[in-house]
Amino acid sequence: MADRWDQNPVALKTVGDNPRLGQVLISQTQIAERVKDLAGEIIRSYHQGESFDLVIVAIMTGSLIFLADLVRAMPLPIRIAIMMVSNYPGASMESKGVKINYDVKEEISGKHVLVVDDILDTGQTLFTVAALLRERGAKSVRTCVLLDKLLPEPKCIAADFVGFQVPNKFVVGYGLDYDNLFRNYPAIAVLEV
Ligand code: 5GP
Ligand code: MG
Repeated sequence: MADRWDQNPVALKTVGDNPRLGQVLISQTQIAERVKDLAGEIIRSYHQGESFDLVIVAIMTGSLIFLADLVRAMPLPIRIAIMMVSNYPGASMESKGVKINYDVKEEISGKHVLVVDDILDTGQTLFTVAALLRERGAKSVRTCVLLDKLLPEPKCIAADFVGFQVPNKFVVGYGLDYDNLFRNYPAIAVLEV
């Protein structure tokens, strides 16, 4: 069996004939370079003198792969906590409302918190999570997304750290799913319906 996605007819047919992987928007190499730069930006902005104190709250499951690469490019003492939040559950390509399925267990009060997510679409997810963590007494709450989707209308939140901007299309790969598939595709591609 071919070990590359583009040579593997089985991989490309995982969800039947439709929908399937379309145009690759961001390559593996581009992601790797940008994630390293992003980690540098984050480190510089949180590093004050000798002290560095940060809790990363990662929104699962979409941020899984991004998180793993990002934190390994940050050689500092970081605490990692997770939250499971769904807005586009299962095989949906439109928002069903933000739902917290698993809440963060790490102590947030008095901490600098960086919320990490895969993609900023309407902003409802990040807005809801950031507000909740502020309510719980975080010293600061900032946000980081790999992707920011270009929408015609204004968003309820802007991310502090952004990897790439993408067009207003449903994208998958590098952690982003459709019906929990394609998360392990290593680049960012448009889902063709
Ligand atoms: P928002 O709450 O900003 O509208 O949507 C953010 C969440 O919706 C992300 O955490 C992600 O799970 C999901 N989402 C939004 N757009 C896309 C997309 O194009 N592809 C995938 N796979 N998920 C998306
Ligand atoms: Mg999500």
